[in-house]
Amino acid sequence: MSRKRKTKIIATLGPATSSQKAIETLYRAGVDTFRVNMSHGNQDDKRELISNIRSVEEKVGRPIAIMVDLQGPKLRIGNFKDGQVTLKNGQSFTLDLNKTDGDDARVSFPHPEVYGAIRKGSSLLLNDGKIFMVVEKAGKQAITCKVKIGGPLSNHKGVNLPNAVLPMKALTAKDRRDLNFALEQGVEWIALSFVQRASDVKEAQRLINGRAGLLAKIEKPAALGELEEILKFSDATMVARGDLGVEARVEEVPMIQKKIIRTARSMGKPVVVATQMLESMIKNPVPTRAEVSDVANAIFDGADAVMLSAESAIGDFPVEAVIVMDKIATQIENDPSYRKMLHREALAGTPTTDDAITAAARGITRSLGASAIVTFTASGSTALRAARERPMAPILTLTPNLHVARKLCLVWGLHTVKTRDVSSFEEMIGKAKRVAMRQGLAKKGDRIIVTAGVPFGVPGSTNVLHVAEIKGNELKGKPKNVRFTGD
Ligand code: PEP
Repeated sequence: MSRKRKTKIIATLGPATSSQKAIETLYRAGVDTFRVNMSHGNQDDKRELISNIRSVEEKVGRPIAIMVDLQGPKLRIGNFKDGQVTLKNGQSFTLDLNKTDGDDARVSFPHPEVYGAIRKGSSLLLNDGKIFMVVEKAGKQAITCKVKIGGPLSNHKGVNLPNAVLPMKALTAKDRRDLNFALEQGVEWIALSFVQRASDVKEAQRLINGRAGLLAKIEKPAALGELEEILKFSDATMVARGDLGVEARVEEVPMIQKKIIRTARSMGKPVVVATQMLESMIKNPVPTRAEVSDVANAIFDGADAVMLSAESAIGDFPVEAVIVMDKIATQIENDPSYRKMLHREALAGTPTTDDAITAAARGITRSLGASAIVTFTASGSTALRAARERPMAPILTLTPNLHVARKLCLVWGLHTVKTRDVSSFEEMIGKAKRVAMRQGLAKKGDRIIVTAGVPFGVPGSTNVLHVAEIKGNELKGKPKNVRFTGD
């Protein structure tokens, strides 16, 4: 099955979509990568979910990526005696280290490490930013605030401290356990929440040790000051607009989104736009016009992937939400303005043979009207550089490594196929033609552009570009019985 769009779709799985049947339906509707959110449920649930995704992959015969999203150091209040209170504008309210249940004057805030970073005048946002208070007295054991915008507040709600750089690592003890679990499961992507500094990413990379790609979620404004450094040590990134829209002013989010996409694209790092993309579809079968425009904008900006959260995890219309995203992406990508928008800012290439070849491949594809670019890649790095160019032809990515084939399902424009390794130039060209035809990306009379590194198997050494013509007799003989329709 080859998708007709370049932008990838990520769907978060949850109670509405955890069965193998539901996952298969979502895949067939257009999902390329499934997100497993460690903020909810336990490892046993997630083990079953991951096994269900792998069974669907086996059935449909196409690689599928799995992203495990670690909860991160989300700050939360404790419980209330009556489960909920209503805070009034102008009243005083205290958060403290006392573990007893709270009332309308105080509540437990069991995060001793952050008390030292809170100052008189700091802003505190609770319950996804719905409640706003300002600190009047910051102590080591208690913080007393004036409520500026009150409202209902219930057990265990989240607390955000916008603009404060907190003395907390992005990996909690729970995250470390979940990370080990995810790596044991062999997932392709680990999403790291609440990244504040490049050192958070370096620490996680040390633990991951090349066993999965690391995606840095940008949801703290503090991370923007170190964005390039954070991305340098990450394998991908996400505009995590849920918490970002609480931590930053909501009107700043569109600019931040554009900045993150621009920076990630120029560095050749895949970038995901996430949260509330089709929020109304949690309850309705059709999106609002504004939501459609929001998804379209992310696609016009050249995001690698757009993501569904609650829409697919707990919503009433998960499949419809995927179909809507698929239709929007297909419509936008077929519009002549799309290419202009994608290339309105010239990307500076690095003076390397890899970048020169991938840039030339894009140019030659356009001049010849070639039907596909075929890249051979061992580590995935050649394919990432090809995707960075955002060529109009699909990029057929051939790799002998199943983990790489799956991982690249997050990346713009890549159609990944696991194949057997090649040992000669002729074998490589023959395989490129056959797989392009079998995957429906080329037919008799078409030309394809093949790029590779020779000798084979050295990551990041692309040094060959070849134009091959499909004669039509390439598929003689039976296809070999290989996994994932390769060759
Ligand atoms: C977000 O905040 O936008 C996000 C994707 O993270 P989470 O869903 O884990 O809150």
